[in-house]
Amino acid sequence: MTIKEKLTALQTEIEDICNRINRDPGTVHIVAVTKYVSEERTKEALDAGIVHIGENRAESGVEKWEALHERGVWHFIGSLQSKKVKKIIDKFSFIHSLDRLSLAEELDKRCPDGQKVICFVQVNVSGEETKAGLHPEEVVPFIKKLMDFHSIEVIGLMTMAPFEDDPEKTRPVFRELRKLRDHVSALNLKHAPCKELSMGMSNDFRIALEEGATYIRIGSALVGADTK
Ligand SMILES: *Cc1c(COP(=O)(O)O)cnc(C)c1O
Repeated sequence: MTIKEKLTALQTEIEDICNRINRDPGTVHIVAVTKYVSEERTKEALDAGIVHIGENRAESGVEKWEALHERGVWHFIGSLQSKKVKKIIDKFSFIHSLDRLSLAEELDKRCPDGQKVICFVQVNVSGEETKAGLHPEEVVPFIKKLMDFHSIEVIGLMTMAPFEDDPEKTRPVFRELRKLRDHVSALNLKHAPCKELSMGMSNDFRIALEEGATYIRIGSALVGADTK
């Protein structure tokens, strides 16, 4: 299948799921994760109508962004070293992996005057040691401290569920992130409207959508994982 065909099939599936659970499919954004694939294939995704591109490394992400003449809206989804912020800040419109104050400080420092850095706070809901992100109980105090960094805007929370052969097993992780999102959002913090949920990948996006995901990050099932 071409990327265009895969995208159409994915959009149909999203609509079906949303109709079944009475959600507006317009609230779901597909981020095509192109970290495994070439520039050509990333271009094919843009040509197929993909708007949001997800990359997890500063070097390769910036190279692609330059090669594709700045098309698309770019999402940084991997763990971000503070020293790489300078490289990506004017190219990536969304940061999905804000997980520490030192990173917030650097993002705030490098943000062009008058602009905002649009962020998701990454949460390690499952507690797996190999996963990045804050523990759930750290999230509210962390977000309150972000108030000091005037250009940081927290639009939502992000998580990665553990890989499960049976995606149903990821449901409690997504459900907990959603509850936490609702909690933060209810605080009505000006710098943290926190309405969005970045969760769900190729294997588990259906469950994530049922639990309220608004940004799903799809790599292998959409653009593939086999080309370099
Ligand atoms: C690689 C990656 C994805 C996409 O993974 P697939 O299983 O290929 O869909 C999503 N989110 C993050 C943070 C990733 O690193």
